[in-house]
Amino acid sequence: MEPISIRGARQHNLKNISVDIPRNKLVVITGVSGSGKSSLAFDVLYAEGRRRYIESLSAYARQFLDQRAKPEVDAISGLSPAVAIEPRAPSSSPRSTVGTVTEIADYVRLLYARVGTPCCLPCGRPLTRHSVPQIVDRVLAFSEGSRLQIMAPVRVATREQCDRAVQELRTAGFVRVRIAGQVYELGDPLPARVPAEFDLIVDRLIVKSGIARRLADSLETTLGYGHDVVKIGQARPDGAYHEHLFTQSLRCPVCGFGYPELTPAFFSPNSPEGACPECDGLGTTSAKAAGSEETLQPGCPACGGMRLRAESRGVRIQDRDIAQLTGLSIAEALDFFRRLSFSGQAAEIAAPLCHAIRTRLQVLSDIGLEYLRLDRPLPTLSGGEAGRVRLSTQLGAGLSGILYILDEPSVGLHPRDTARLLAVLRQLRDKDNSVLVVEHDPDTIRAADYIIDLGPGAGEGGGEVLAVGTPHAVQHRTGSMTGRYLRGEFSIPVPAQRRKTDQFLTLGGATVHNLKNLTVSFPLGTLSCVTGVSGSGKSSLVLDALAPVLSRALAVRAAPPGATPSLDGWQLIDRLVQIDQTPISRTPHSNPATYVGLFNPLRQLFAQLPEARVRGYGPERFSFNVKGGRCEACLGSGMVGVDMHFLPDVYVECELCRGLRYNRETLEVRFRGLSIAEVLNLSVAQALEVLLELPKIRPRLETLRSLGLDYMRLGQPAPSLSGGEAQRLKLARELSRRATGHTLYLMDEPTTGLHLADIQRLLKVLNLLVEAGHTVLVIEHNPDLIKTADFVLDLGPEGGQRGGQVVASGTPEDVARVEGSHTGRFLKPRLGMQGVD
Ligand code: ADP
Ligand code: ADP
Ligand code: ZN
Repeated sequence: MEPISIRGARQHNLKNISVDIPRNKLVVITGVSGSGKSSLAFDVLYAEGRRRYIESLSAYARQFLDQRAKPEVDAISGLSPAVAIEPRAPSSSPRSTVGTVTEIADYVRLLYARVGTPCCLPCGRPLTRHSVPQIVDRVLAFSEGSRLQIMAPVRVATREQCDRAVQELRTAGFVRVRIAGQVYELGDPLPARVPAEFDLIVDRLIVKSGIARRLADSLETTLGYGHDVVKIGQARPDGAYHEHLFTQSLRCPVCGFGYPELTPAFFSPNSPEGACPECDGLGTTSAKAAGSEETLQPGCPACGGMRLRAESRGVRIQDRDIAQLTGLSIAEALDFFRRLSFSGQAAEIAAPLCHAIRTRLQVLSDIGLEYLRLDRPLPTLSGGEAGRVRLSTQLGAGLSGILYILDEPSVGLHPRDTARLLAVLRQLRDKDNSVLVVEHDPDTIRAADYIIDLGPGAGEGGGEVLAVGTPHAVQHRTGSMTGRYLRGEFSIPVPAQRRKTDQFLTLGGATVHNLKNLTVSFPLGTLSCVTGVSGSGKSSLVLDALAPVLSRALAVRAAPPGATPSLDGWQLIDRLVQIDQTPISRTPHSNPATYVGLFNPLRQLFAQLPEARVRGYGPERFSFNVKGGRCEACLGSGMVGVDMHFLPDVYVECELCRGLRYNRETLEVRFRGLSIAEVLNLSVAQALEVLLELPKIRPRLETLRSLGLDYMRLGQPAPSLSGGEAQRLKLARELSRRATGHTLYLMDEPTTGLHLADIQRLLKVLNLLVEAGHTVLVIEHNPDLIKTADFVLDLGPEGGQRGGQVVASGTPEDVARVEGSHTGRFLKPRLGMQGVD
């Protein structure tokens, strides 16, 4: 089969590379961080696939889509339609849930509309609808000789209609009517004012063969008069009547409570038919306190946060309303749908729906998300979870001939679950799709059909193809870091000693999400890890329980009185810093130089140059953010928005400064031949050569280099930085602060996006922080990092409700010795203890 063939790719740091990607295979692109993996996978392949797709659309449709520039590549042949699955979700609506994006919610709604049992809200009785022939059949089925009393309400609009109805009923054999509680013989004069609705009574009718048929005919006539509740009293031997109730619509014959037509929209909180009228289907009501920002109240009083109108929740399948069903975890829902069965016609209607639901639930469970609830809002998922949910939707879509491009699908996943993730990726491949994965996880690399290894370094030092082929072939390439890693020649050493301390930060009684009233102590002045399978409660403990309580205590310098969870030992800490992978800034006016404090000394440097002095330029002249030195055509952004009238603006390079952001005069001032724009375009490594002897600048550059960011351009706009790069910039800023007191650093999976070689470098930095007297607490899955920690707190044993407990704690060796710890199992071989495999 013809491969996807790339010729002459030069995007970002790629060095004019040509590479063939075999089709319908699981292909992993690997290499150190910054080597060009994403540039190749996303900025060349995916961008070109997308561009061609847009080109194929009509001119009318094209104007609505953002048309990015053609990637820098000579030619790509054999490209299939491409779908990208990245961990950081493009902003999803707060109304999207795990159920809605996977289409499970759509199928569940259809199932409730088609085969759900509506129950009366006031009295709870199940409501069924009877057609006229069904009611007649029931009457005919009474045993011969039964004495019946039939009460079928009649509805009329005018007196004229009423008289006509009475006449007709009489000929049909009915003998009395009841109007406003009073009984009238048909034939007697009726009262002057007849209400729009009155009862029709057939009294003491005896079912005999002949008469039964006539009765049936007359019933058909009367039931045609429209009102839908029909009571049939069957005389018992004691003279009393046993009442049978029939309704022609979904209305409770006793309470009168009725349903509209059951449609899928009736079960959707996002449609006017289904949304709770009180909160508009949001589940929370917003209250505007005078003059303050809008605040969200927890839980709408009308729907209790369930978002649906009460009527929709009266429809049941096996005693569960739709909100209860979508409130199940994926594992529970799978169990429910495995047991669910219907009889008769309902079984036929339900079968394809249940099948679609079960397959989707199974995929979600296969990729280790069985603990997520179907109604969990997408924006509350971690990046890795959101990416895997989106991966599952692709499998559900059942397409073939697609090129899937995935960015680190293993993020957030415990090594225990990697095998299941791989099985899902192979399933996708076996449906005749090409699966291209940017990944660092060694198990995924080993399991690939084909590897493309980029490197050798990052940025300008990378961008070359080091090796291609099967894992076996790549393993024998000497120059490749990945090869050395696969051969086992390179590994992170286990520290000879673990740090000990008698100072602890203790959190008591944590119950957030699934936490089972946990009391835990973290040793201060150490590198500690919180571990456990995905969904076990790591983020709940560290980010949702510990961080807010600690920051409150630090803000007011007082123990939170009587607060839960409780906190001890906070006095030993001066500052809490969370270092995550969120962007350092969303504006292009921010960049690595501004962020780590290099830009000020740089501008001072330029202002002191003779040329600047002659012209009277101060430091502010060299800022692209203020009037003076910046290009006024683009206000220093280098880009100009073109007004497309009703369409979103399109940004193009500024014609005046050609993207340099400064005006001509400013650029005439040069340091060692370089203008300020050229200096900002240097990588950290190049800048170190040019700016070596500048005391205010050099240490910051060295910190950046120590974090493996030597390839990063000083002026790279903040929004184009990856999550891992943003995280390391935040660390760099912390490292260049003058240390004061004791800081607690919290980090969430800092190894994301990092190759083993990068992890080693990261560890060096984290240990520097600890050596300076601080505490570093990380949430982590990577056994190569966990094994170097001083203290490990392992949560579990499983995800969701089956987690939230401490499985093991102590040194990595202590954890490895605990039988039930999944983390322990993966630590053993790395600690030289006897492993399971
Ligand atoms: P990897 O995926 O291997 O970590 P990337 O492909 O993200 O590496 O980056 C390769 C190089 O290209 C890095 O030097 C990075 O800073 C640079 N780069 C990435 N995106 C952009 C961009 N939008 N603009 C300029 N440079 C970029
Ligand atoms: P981990 O960090 O170990 O992967 P989490 O702390 O994210 O685990 O999740 C623990 C449990 O709490 C899971 O069942 C998860 O679905 C639930 N959970 C986490 N965040 C939220 C949230 N914002 N809303 C509802 N449930 C949540
Ligand atoms: Zn509500």
